[in-house]
Parts: sequence; C-alpha cells; structure tokens
Amino acid sequence: MGKVYLTGAGPGDIELLTVKALRVIKEADAIIYDRLANPEILEHAKDGCEFIYVGKEDGRHIMPQDDINEVIYQNALKYENVVRLKGGDPFVFGRGGEEALYLLERNIKFDVIPGITSAISAPAYAGIPVTHRGVAVSFRVVTGHESPNKKVSQIPWDNFKTDDTIIFLMGLHNLPKISKKLIEIGKAADYPVAVISRGTTVEQTVVVGTLSDIVEKAKDVPTPALIVVGRVVELREQLNWFK
Ligand code: SAH
Repeated sequence: MGKVYLTGAGPGDIELLTVKALRVIKEADAIIYDRLANPEILEHAKDGCEFIYVGKEDGRHIMPQDDINEVIYQNALKYENVVRLKGGDPFVFGRGGEEALYLLERNIKFDVIPGITSAISAPAYAGIPVTHRGVAVSFRVVTGHESPNKKVSQIPWDNFKTDDTIIFLMGLHNLPKISKKLIEIGKAADYPVAVISRGTTVEQTVVVGTLSDIVEKAKDVPTPALIVVGRVVELREQLNWFK
C-alpha cells in the first residue's frame, strides 16, 4: 500500500513550486492532476510515471469528485508514491480536505504539501499587497461560485462593508452579480476592483476598474481569473513590478 501526497502546484510560475513538491513529483509513480496553470511541472516526473488527468475542461468536470477520490485510492493500492497535484494550494478551494478524509477512512497514509495559492500570489504579481498598513488589516478569500442572488447565502455579505480586502476565486462569470451586490450593501460605485487573469504566468493580464465599470472592462479576460476588491488595488499604480 502506498502513500498519497496531496500537493500544491502553485499558481503558474514554475519557480513558485515548493522544493518539497518538486521532490515528491520526481519520486512519483503516478501523478493525478487537474488542469494546471503550468503543465511544465509534469516534465520533472521520472520515466514510467503514470499521468492521470481528472481536471476540468472549460468549467465542465470531466470526472465527479467521488470518482476522483476513488481514482486516488485505487492508485494508492497500486503504487508506492502517488502525487495528487492541484493548482495553488490543495486546501484553498481545492477539495483537498475531502480527498484526505476519503483516504483516512480507507487507512491510506497521506501528506499534505501546501502550495502558494493564487489568492495572494496573483495579486502580488499584479503589484497589489493583500494587506497594507493603514489600508487593509485583513483579507478574505471567498468563493465567487455561489450566485450573490441566492436567497440563503453562506457568504456573509454584510461583513464586506469594511475596507478589508476581498479576493473572489471562481467568480469571473458572477462578476456582474458580485459587483452589484457589493454596491447594494453600501460600497461606493467607484470602489476599486482588479481582475487578474492567469496570474504569475507570462500571460498575466490585470484589469483595474471600479465596482461600476469593472464588468465592461473585464469582459474579454480569459480564465483562470480572480477578483480583488479593496483600497489596496490603488497601490498597484506604484508597485506594479511584473511586466
Ligand atoms: N487551489 C487553488 C484555487 C482553486 S479554485 C489556489 O489555491 O490557487 C480555482 C480558481 O482559482 C479559479 O477560478 C481562479 O479564480 C483562481 N486561480 C487559479 N489560478 C489562477 C491564476 N494563475 N490567476 C488567477 N486566478 C487563478
């Protein structure tokens, strides 16, 4: 029986892969992966390593989560070293927790190898610090997948009135609803917003606007992309270092 490494692949720039992730990738007998911001990572695997793709194609899951869990389990029975590779960090909207629980119930050993999440690194490469003295004392990473029009929301929208930074992942398609909702709860129409697409890669695109014009400005931006809402966005004017 083998061991599973629930591993973060980082946000895209291959040099943002951790030393530990690179080691387990090199030793892996099988790598189970999603669509990766940087597929070059897989070139570091040893000869004979089996690659199993379980990711999404244009937002469409090619495999339900239950089946993915089972694929990981079956490979752990078959191989010594199994790497479950996920974009960014495995526990930040990566469903890594569910996979870990599934393995735990079946007595499969696992390690978690955190990765650099896109939530902070894409803003960093866009010249946006997620916290900044005197501007934002905290940041939240929120799913943008849930429609803000939902009657019973799990998202505490009313807490978003402060200047703390809000980072929405998986929210590009909901951007019109998200910006409308933030104006409804009391944020100014000219409140700063940035959309960062393919962050940390050579294809990184950053669109800066306000809650009232970001939808129009970001309409052609490709995925994956995240949304940063907060006064910290204004720091980009001075801190934009990555061009
Ligand atoms: N575990 C991942 C997040 C998975 S959810 C992490 O820690 O980064 C997928 C969402 O992450 C996408 O919809 C997008 O909002 C965001 N994302 C992932 N990679 C990104 C990148 N390179 N640039 C911008 N957003 C990214």
